[in-house]
Amino acid sequence: MKKINILLITMTIIFAGCAPDGKKDNPLLMEFDTPYEAPPFDKIEDEHFMPAIEEAISQHKAEIEAIVENPEAPDFENTIVAYDDAGELLTRVNRVFGGLRSAETTDRLQEIARETTPMLSEHRNSIRFNMDLFNRIEEVYENRENMDLDREQERLVEKVYQDFERNGVALPEEERNRLKELNERMSMVSLELGENLLAENNRYKLVLEDEEDLVGLPDHVISAAAEEAEKADKEGKWVFTLSKPSWIPFLQYSERRDLREEIFKEYINRGDNENENDNKELFLELLELRQEMTRMLGFDNYAEYFTDIQMAENPENVYDFLYEVWDPALERAKQERDDMQAIIDREGKDYELEAWDWWYYAEIIREEEYDLDEDQLKPYFTLDNVRKGNFALANKLYGLTFEERPEVPVYHEEVEAFEVYDNDGSHLGILYIDAHPRPGKRSGAWCGTYRSGGYEDGEKIAPIVTIVMNFTRPTGDQPAMLSWDETTTYFHEFGHALHNFFADGRYDRTRRSVPRDFVELPSQILENYAAEPELLKEYAIHYETGEAIPDELIEKIHNSRYFNQGFQQTEYFAAAILDMDWHTAEITPDIDVNEFEKASMDGIGLIDEIIPRYRTTNFQHIFGSGYAAGYYVYRWAGVLDADAFQAFKETGDIFNQELAEKFRKYIMAKNSIYEGMDAYIKFRGEEPSIEPFLERSGLN
Ligand SMILES: [Zn+2]
Repeated sequence: MKKINILLITMTIIFAGCAPDGKKDNPLLMEFDTPYEAPPFDKIEDEHFMPAIEEAISQHKAEIEAIVENPEAPDFENTIVAYDDAGELLTRVNRVFGGLRSAETTDRLQEIARETTPMLSEHRNSIRFNMDLFNRIEEVYENRENMDLDREQERLVEKVYQDFERNGVALPEEERNRLKELNERMSMVSLELGENLLAENNRYKLVLEDEEDLVGLPDHVISAAAEEAEKADKEGKWVFTLSKPSWIPFLQYSERRDLREEIFKEYINRGDNENENDNKELFLELLELRQEMTRMLGFDNYAEYFTDIQMAENPENVYDFLYEVWDPALERAKQERDDMQAIIDREGKDYELEAWDWWYYAEIIREEEYDLDEDQLKPYFTLDNVRKGNFALANKLYGLTFEERPEVPVYHEEVEAFEVYDNDGSHLGILYIDAHPRPGKRSGAWCGTYRSGGYEDGEKIAPIVTIVMNFTRPTGDQPAMLSWDETTTYFHEFGHALHNFFADGRYDRTRRSVPRDFVELPSQILENYAAEPELLKEYAIHYETGEAIPDELIEKIHNSRYFNQGFQQTEYFAAAILDMDWHTAEITPDIDVNEFEKASMDGIGLIDEIIPRYRTTNFQHIFGSGYAAGYYVYRWAGVLDADAFQAFKETGDIFNQELAEKFRKYIMAKNSIYEGMDAYIKFRGEEPSIEPFLERSGLN
């Protein structure tokens, strides 16, 4: 450890002495001299990233070099811990870079990403395939049982060793070199797929000039479209985009069936338009690369490789789970389709229900049978109210409190920063909330970190966490009001944020390391709470009358739990099966992407009126390695969260603090010691049952 520090100091002096332009005064390379050492967004400019990344890479290289050249025999501290500590600056710069690229990107940042992506993947490769480094790690790994390590340390050794092994370091040199090429190409292709999709999202807008074209649309949808038009320099017109808060309300309410069809087709065909953003060829190339990689590593296909380190363990278990839910889900979707067709017939219209009609008729069913009008709900679910609901929930379960910190720098005026206090009043971290869509923000909702928590020289480092959404904006003098879907999304991302705040471990690699099919448990369990009357009465307050949401509306929310579930589950499971089919198939260059997709969906009997939630060419989740062969994880975790919430209900108190303490400890805090099923059983006392999930979805 000491040697590395000395080397680092020397290097810093050298760099300070002959700093080329861009390194001097680069805020990314200096201590963050800000409240809570948050990133100094007000000082960071696009041009700072390239030199900062270059500098961070060379520091990381030097740190690795120091481990390899250590004359002492490899041991836990001088090899494993040193490796775990290395690359801190790179991580810090990358988090800011990645955070901005997702939430507030610019053409220049995209350009820099294209330049740095190959640099970074080459750098990662140089470490992954560093034989001298691996030899030292392997030596520690093989002797780990004689080293007097505690459980957390032993798991760190195993994780680090497994990372190297899964990257193919033990392969013959020629194959290793090929793997490096594959990795580099895969990151480029992933990047291009995502860029094409962003371009496709922005390429099309439905521009309406005639008031008659707005027939059926409620006022708030019209005024949102008018504001969208202003942003697009089309004042006096109405604009609908391919972001969900824009096109979904249009499909729900517009009586212009032809326009519904137009915008829906534009949405589902993103990346499949035979233009410069077409993703078909690129996607197939990505799958070929993945296949070649996984075969070199001794797996039949990418799904095997992915699931090998998941709770599910193998593709068969995933398919078993998917099919167990698929049949009842499809059955229910068919019923829903027939109900909608009956309305069309009743209206005396002579057409068959099509995919772009689904939202429109679902809305009618919602009004008729569930009597739940989203517009009735919305005044209770202002953005502020939902935030307060989340904060109140964190207080009831874990005793956390929150305070707004306007002095913390943010990257856009819409972003809010809060300080989070633990139940003993100590500082737990900083939370950014970034709620609304902007042109530089990618679609969807996510949680990320600008600094992950941990320890440095025994001192606790508090995390800086961000939740980013694309929620309906305020319009005119009305506050932002969230749909029910947006409300539960808020709770979801906030759950990820809590996981980040609670994660507590000594080492970077294992601190918050959970399998992908486990990681959605802390987020999804909070969605259950969003609808609980005890919480609703506290946060769902009408923004004009100041009255708490009435019982009859709460009851309607509860009844509507089953509304459209056939559709919801079917479109999700169709996408999850499509993902698994792609990643278990024999990939050859002559595959026709659209035909493959069709065959896959025909194979499970998907009806024409529903398309998978994501089609191949716009399936962002599987473009990167994170969720490839892993889209199933959300519902897999659904089984976990439904069963875990059931555990709270069984105590007779959904805010049971004793059980919450267990949840915090085993599910979120001690991931460096307990993993997957072990962690779950520690919390629950037994394995999860699928029943609460089926019941909640109305599929039992
Ligand atoms: Zn999530």
